Amino acid sequence: MEVANAVVMAQRLLRPKLVTAILVVDATAGNGNDTLFLADNTPNTTVVWAFDIQTQALTKTQELLTNHELDYKVHLVLDSHAHIPKYINQPVDAAMFNLGYLPGGDHAISTSSDTTIQAIAQTLQLLAADGLVTIAAYPGYEHGRLELQAVHEYLTSLSQKMFTVACWSMVNQKNSPPVLYVIEKIRSEQLEGSTSLKD
Ligand code: SAH
Repeated sequence: MEVANAVVMAQRLLRPKLVTAILVVDATAGNGNDTLFLADNTPNTTVVWAFDIQTQALTKTQELLTNHELDYKVHLVLDSHAHIPKYINQPVDAAMFNLGYLPGGDHAISTSSDTTIQAIAQTLQLLAADGLVTIAAYPGYEHGRLELQAVHEYLTSLSQKMFTVACWSMVNQKNSPPVLYVIEKIRSEQLEGSTSLKD
C-alpha cells in the first residue's frame, strides 16, 4: 500500500466498512468529494447525510452527485453538524469530518472547535457498534492548529472501553500537513453495560 495523505487514508480505512453500511454521514460536505466517495462506495439502499452551513458548498455537492447519478441516496442539509441529532435518530455506520474552510471559498467560514467537538460527541452517541468516524484536521493555519489541539484533547479523553482512537500524519512534510483521527466504536458485547463516553 502506498503511503498517502490524511484524506486518502480516511477513504481507504472506511471503504471496507461502507460495503455493509446502512446510514453514513459527511459532517462537512464542502466541495462534495467525501459525499461522493460515501455515495459511490455504499450499497444502493444506503442513506447518506451530508451537512454544511454554506449554500455554495451544498450546490457544488449536489452538482457532483447529479453528474454521477448518485443524488438519489443523499440528503443534503444546510445546517450545522452540531444539530445532527435533529435529523438522524438511527445508528450511524460511518461518518467523515473534513475540517477547515472550503477550498476556493471564504476562509473566514471555517469549522470551529466548539461546534466540531459537539458534533463529534453527538456522532459518537449515534455510532453503531464497530462504526467508524474519521476526522481530517488542518494545523497549517492558526485557527486550524487550535481546532486540532481541542479535538485532540477531546479524543484523548474518550473511554478506551468504548472507543479505539488512532491518529495518522506525515511526519517529515513541511507546512504542517493534515492529521487524520480514526475512532472505532467497540462492539457492545465487549462493553459490559457502559454508557458514558468517558468512563
Ligand atoms: N479543509 C478541507 C476542506 C474542508 S471543507 C480541504 O482543504 O480540502 C469544510 C466545510 O465545512 C466548509 O464547506 C464549511 O462551510 C463547512 N462547515 C463549517 N462549519 C460547519 C458546521 N458547523 N457544520 C457543518 N459544516 C460546516
